[in-house]
Amino acid sequence: MQIPLWLTDVLNLFFPNVCLACGNALVRQEEVICLSCQFKLPKTGFHLHEENIIAATFWGRVEISSATSFLFFNKGGNVQQLMHALKYKGRKEVGIYLGKLFGMELSTSPLFQPINLIIPVPLHPKKYHQRGFNQSQVISKGIGSAMHIPVDTGHLVRLVHTSSQTRKSRYDRWENVRSAFGLINPEELEGKHILLIDDVLTTGATLEACASVLLEAENTKVSVATLGYAQA
Ligand SMILES: [Zn+2]
Repeated sequence: MQIPLWLTDVLNLFFPNVCLACGNALVRQEEVICLSCQFKLPKTGFHLHEENIIAATFWGRVEISSATSFLFFNKGGNVQQLMHALKYKGRKEVGIYLGKLFGMELSTSPLFQPINLIIPVPLHPKKYHQRGFNQSQVISKGIGSAMHIPVDTGHLVRLVHTSSQTRKSRYDRWENVRSAFGLINPEELEGKHILLIDDVLTTGATLEACASVLLEAENTKVSVATLGYAQA
């Protein structure tokens, strides 16, 4: 049975040691999510396949070396519950924990070796200020620790706060996203294979914009990994 979001939020307030996906009490040796929920995580397995739906999202848009998402993100499911805990309840341990699980799987895929640097998609400064952290950076930390690869937040930056998109044309919207990112000291990224990280893949526009900017540095390769994949 799936417990509603508000109820797990209330439960977490009084019983912090419960599974953040199902709300059951965690037993010793379990952290963040119970073993049963961990076993049931809807993994995509895309990291082992060069041609997958995540990679296809970027075909004809930007050159991505390898692309994958860890989990299927379905409305009302456990993954949404976990993302909610991370993004809106500040439960950063969820991002670290899932990031580690993801990183362990990425380590087994030849498509993702060798990676030199992990770079999270930067958050709007305004959102960063509101939330106090960047969820993609937290996920990156987990992935980086499992893969033994440094996480870099000093080169790819968000330049402007993108204005309201609703009245803009598709092209203007893209220009708006595209110009939102910039590179600091691009020469330091020269020749590197960068793994770009975001929390959930939807249209891929943000990742496309970030990848395009990273590819402006000389001789870089960019791969993409997101924790969740929201099927359209
Ligand atoms: Zn559970």
